[in-house]
Formats: sequence, C-alpha cells, structure tokens
Amino acid sequence: MRSRANKRRRISLFKKWPYCYWCRRQLTLDGNPNGRGPVPENFATLDHLRSRLHPERQTPNPNCEERIVLACPTCNQKRSTEETRALSKEELWRRSGAYPGVGYDG
Ligand SMILES: [Zn+2]
Repeated sequence: MRSRANKRRRISLFKKWPYCYWCRRQLTLDGNPNGRGPVPENFATLDHLRSRLHPERQTPNPNCEERIVLACPTCNQKRSTEETRALSKEELWRRSGAYPGVGYDG
C-alpha cells in the first residue's frame, strides 16, 4: 500500500533532517502507529512542496521531482488550508475571465 512507501520515506527524511521544514521544531516518528490515540503535536508528517505556491518556486529543481519534506501536523494543516484558499481564488479569477497568463486564442 501507499502508506508503507510513505512510512519508509518519512524515516529516510527523518534521518536527514528531523525537524519541521516550516517551523523548525524537532519532530518525532513515535506516536499512534495504529491510528489510535492522539497524534503528538510534533509528529512527523509528510508535506508536499508544490512549486506553484511555494515562495521559492524559482529555485531550480534539477530532478523535476516532487519535493517532499517533513512537517509537524500544525504546519501541514495550515499549509493545506492556505493552498485551498489560493486555489479557490485562482478559480474565481478564471471564472471572471481575468485569469492572468491564460490565452483564449485556441
Ligand atoms: Zn511546524
């Protein structure tokens, strides 16, 4: 299953840099391995860096890989909320016909 690959990836990322990518708090891999009980607030979660919304999006990504970092649940949640907001704004632009950079000459 996908979760097994994610688990392996979490461990490998954790060995390289056991901190939240965003707030730099130290993370832990321990905690509710069976999905039961509360998740520690410094539990290491996987967070996908989306180039389009990332502030350093001009930084070259030589391998064209999706970048994955570790984040604490708080930052992970915060970011996903922000991304949702950004996407709906974009959607609004698109609907209003004012979406920048999109041509209609097809
Ligand atoms: Zn964090």
